Order: sequence, then structure tokens, then C-alpha cells
Amino acid sequence: MEARDVLALGLGVASPWRLVDQRLDMDKHPHVLEILLEAERGAEFSCPECGRRCKAHDFKEFSWRHLNFFQHHCLITARVPRTDCPEHGVKRVKVPWAREGSGFTLLFEQAAMTLVREMPVLAVARIIGITDKRLWRIVEHYVSEALRRLDLSDLTAFAFDETASKKGQNYVTVFIDADRKKEPVVFATPGKGKTTVKEFKAFLEAHSGDPSRIQEAVCDMSPAFLAAVDEEFPDAAVTVDWFHVVQLFTKAVDDVRKAERRQTQLPAATRWAVLKAADGRLTDKQLAALVELEAGDFLTAKAWRIKEKLRWVRQADTPHAARWRLSHFLRHAREQIADGPLFESVRKALETVEKHRRRILRRWTSTHSNARLEAMNGLFQAARARARGYRNEATFIIVIYLIAAPLGSLFNSI
Ligand SMILES: [Zn+2]
Repeated sequence: MEARDVLALGLGVASPWRLVDQRLDMDKHPHVLEILLEAERGAEFSCPECGRRCKAHDFKEFSWRHLNFFQHHCLITARVPRTDCPEHGVKRVKVPWAREGSGFTLLFEQAAMTLVREMPVLAVARIIGITDKRLWRIVEHYVSEALRRLDLSDLTAFAFDETASKKGQNYVTVFIDADRKKEPVVFATPGKGKTTVKEFKAFLEAHSGDPSRIQEAVCDMSPAFLAAVDEEFPDAAVTVDWFHVVQLFTKAVDDVRKAERRQTQLPAATRWAVLKAADGRLTDKQLAALVELEAGDFLTAKAWRIKEKLRWVRQADTPHAARWRLSHFLRHAREQIADGPLFESVRKALETVEKHRRRILRRWTSTHSNARLEAMNGLFQAARARARGYRNEATFIIVIYLIAAPLGSLFNSI
């Protein structure tokens, strides 16, 4: 076997294509290894429409960026013929080493996609030596091809949540299959609120899914989401995600703290002491703040105790126990805050819980896992880190799919 045969093998070049020349262009920096491919004289080619063998009609030269050869860039050039099929007319043939319209070889794109699944796009672009804009185009192609093949015929329960791609702007709503432990994301779309649920339904239907098979939807307590699920998935029962109940009270505690701080001096480190879960890792300073808060009979301490009591509700073993504990929680909390105008936010949170009580309690009877939305927060953070430096939600969505959608092999789309 000659050296050039080895190079040709790596490219997947087979008859009628052969490698006819290679040279290292040292005038360019980095140096460029140029590989010239040619079709055997008189060879016939398949019409790209029907596969009929045809003679070459004419040729045009194309180049593709290939995997680096050590530190050198590598460029493949070939004169690609057009066939003149009696049925389909004059068409450019497909070459086996690249997909139609791409300026890169398949091997190059595969290497790029493998890296992109592991590290930020900007870093990958630097490593493989192309602009991030061109890399995004490759990524977008493979992700959308993989998504096109997504089969949602088994989907019976989903959870969804919104997040900002950047702080306070560019919202994206993400839907996950509640039964998938790994790679749960099945749909992500710009925006938040009602229309996103409508869009998800259309996507589901376009991917062999059946909206009437959906038994359960898990979400937060936003009226827009709840109304949208009722409209688009009338057969689905709604479960309010516990994570959002806790979030509601965490925010309420913070509101009380802010209001109280305007009236009196609070212990140092109060903010994070009351925001973190008490069984989490508190610093010594934060622990001291809690002790001082309790001792000083601060309103913030009262609100904090209410929030912490949620844990006791959550730990209920049976639906019956949960119902009892939630009632107890609501009654007890209302007594605690009866006298204070500073508790407005806690009062509202209690009202919200009361209103959605049935949906909150569903988590104890649901057959689907409800721990997923909490895990989504971690996913959102990872995606934000990966998409850093990019403004639009389109890139953020692509990264979410890359990290957490069941895309399978990203290279079946050739
Ligand atoms: Zn044809």
C-alpha cells in the first residue's frame, strides 16, 4: 500500500474517486496540505435523484476543509461532475466524503460535533481552526437533523419550565419527557407563556406523538401555563412541581427580609442564611445569623421558619399524610403571620398554595417522577455557561439540545 492510499482510506475515498496528488503549501500559515482527488477517466456517476448511472456532463472544482494533518490545515480539492439523467436532467453528483453544500468533509464535521458535545463552541472553533459562525452552522445542521428524527410516540408525561438565556432577558421554555432519566429534553422554544405550550403540541404531533395520550403535565403555578395546558392537553392532569412551591416561599422570605431591613438592623449574613435550605451547607457566619435572628424575634425568622416547614410537608410518606400536613402547614403559617403587614408576600404565597393545593398534592399520587424540573435548573446553568458570549436564544436552544436531548448519533443524517 502506498502512502497516498493510506490518506485515501482515511477519507473514505473509493472508486471511481482516487487520490492523484498531494502537496504541502508552505507559503500559507498555518501550512496547508492540499490533496487532489480525481474521478477515473470515463467513469459513470449516479444521478442524485434516481441513482441511474450516467456519463459526466461537465465538471466544476470544489474544495473541502479536512481534518488537520498534524499542525497543518488540510484541504481537499476535486472536480465534481454533473450527470445528465434522461429523467432528472443535469444534476451535481454527491461525493462520498462530504454532505451536500458543506465546505467541510464528513470526518471534519464529526470531529467538530464530538468536541462540541463536550466543550464551549468558542473553544472548539479555536481548536479546529474555523470561525465560530461556520461552526454554529455545522452544529445547527446536525442538531436539527437529529431532532427531525425524534420519535415522541411514547410520550405520556411532560414537564416544562422557562428560563432566561441571559439575566432577565431572552426567555426560553424547555419541555422534558418526565419518564426519561437521561437526555430528557424533547423541545425548546424562544419565549414564555401560553404560545410555547401550543408550539410544543404542534411539535409533538409532527413527531408521531398524540396529545390525547398525555396523562400528566408538570409545571409551576403561573396562570398562563396552567391555562395553556388545560386548553392544549385537556386530558392531562397537572401536577405543580414542588421545586416551585419552595421557590415561592424562598422569594417571600427574601421580601420580608428586605422590608424588615428598612426598619431595623438585621444580623450580618442574614440574606444567604435564610435563602439556603437549613440542611444545606451553611457557613459559620450564616449559622450564627440564624441563631441571632431566632433569638431576636425578627419577622424574617418567622418567615424563614414557615419556609423550612415545607420540608416537613414534603417528607410525608402517603397522600393522606401529605394532605394533612399541607393543611396543617397552611393553618399554622397563617396564624404566624396574622399580625404583620410586612408578611404580605408570605400571605400571597400561602394563597397561591391554597389555590393550587390539589395540583400540588398530585405529586404524591403521580406515577411519574417529579424531581426532574429541579434537575433542569442545573441544565440551564450548564447551557448558559456553554453558550457564553452569544446573544441570541437560538444558540442557547441549540446548546440545550446538545447537552440534554436524546439526539442519538448525530451523524446518521448524511
Ligand atoms: Zn435521475
